[in-house]
Amino acid sequence: MLAWSAPTIPHIPGNAPILEIHNTSSGSLVDTAPAEAANAPASMYVCGITPYDATHMGHAATYVAFDLMQRTWRDAGRSVNYVQNVTDIDDPLLERAAATGVDWVELAQQQTDLFRADMEALNVIPPQEYIGAVESISWLVPLVEELVAKELAYTVPGENGEPDGDVYFDSIAAANSAWELGTVSGYDRETMLGFFAERGGDPKRPGKRDELDPLLWRVAREGEPRWDGATLGAGRPGWHIECSVIARRFLPAPFTVQGGGSDLIFPHHEFSAGHAAALDGKALAEAYVHTGMVGLDGEKMSKSLGNLVLVSKLRAAGVEPVAIRTVLLGQHYRSDWFWTDELLTEAQNRVERWRKRLDGTTLAEATAVITRIRSKLANDLNAPAALAVLDAFSAQEPAEHDDSNGAGGALLADALDALLGLKLV
Ligand code: ZN
Repeated sequence: MLAWSAPTIPHIPGNAPILEIHNTSSGSLVDTAPAEAANAPASMYVCGITPYDATHMGHAATYVAFDLMQRTWRDAGRSVNYVQNVTDIDDPLLERAAATGVDWVELAQQQTDLFRADMEALNVIPPQEYIGAVESISWLVPLVEELVAKELAYTVPGENGEPDGDVYFDSIAAANSAWELGTVSGYDRETMLGFFAERGGDPKRPGKRDELDPLLWRVAREGEPRWDGATLGAGRPGWHIECSVIARRFLPAPFTVQGGGSDLIFPHHEFSAGHAAALDGKALAEAYVHTGMVGLDGEKMSKSLGNLVLVSKLRAAGVEPVAIRTVLLGQHYRSDWFWTDELLTEAQNRVERWRKRLDGTTLAEATAVITRIRSKLANDLNAPAALAVLDAFSAQEPAEHDDSNGAGGALLADALDALLGLKLV
């Protein structure tokens, strides 16, 4: 699948510190570049959208946060292998298509196009591999067959006249030295059961060996889209195996960072890691990094409440994408927060103040601001602190003489673009 166009990223002189990032799995800050790997490529997989309701502010906050991670690595001289999926076949997509009378393929294409345009506008560096779930089916089927052959997956009988043969992952039998239930999330069983039921799992499905076992392959029902599943029978894949297989196909084992919103910690990232480890005995990623949830004016943002803030709507209303990106960077990526109109207005004002202060910036000032921004970002991507550095600088009167003929302002503008993705000029 095509991603979107890559922005040109200016090269900024000097050395960035090594990024330390909060790992959900260990609950602590981890160094993302151990000494022996300091110049090795970093690798990142960020779970993509299910293409309906794109691109709401929660999506935008997540992809901008991981974009910041990528920019921080690049600034430290590392190359980055980045992979993202699009869940272009899954229950929520089919349900939305049915509810709105739109063909599911058309809905997915339309929403993926909108997402690409929004990402490009927000100056997000695209993944090298942008892979649809549908594209991954032929890679995934043999791996599910392998799990069945290893007795780490099993089929269950159909109920209420539905066909036999849905395939589930045996999460207890699959435990090994690289993964067991809780390795990624650290949750206790009760918490896992709560999230499993809330986030698309089916704990009460008869025939399952454990309530938490997730679906690997759903055999075709009347009227549902289906693909060739070889010995599994025609059907479609579960969600966790999709990401597991795509990540393993394009990235090292383990890769550096698995990312997504905090609502993906369990069951999605737990089982993506479980499936991969069951197949090859290796951890999926070195660190699991999660972004907070974004609400609106004190409420959860959801389609059912009709309060989704969409990037495309703001753009259509004439809001500059750099102001939207400023709102997003003004919140620490791990915190839960609420979008408000006041935040947007404040961001628009900040952008104006920063722009004005570029004029008359000396080279010495630009270099000092860049050093401070780099150190804030290296500490768990503290973008709000980086923006505060910029605010403090912008509040200072320009020097009487800019002896750099504008080179200081140009360097600072390039650095804000390269490090924070803020294109001010
Ligand atoms: Zn995923």
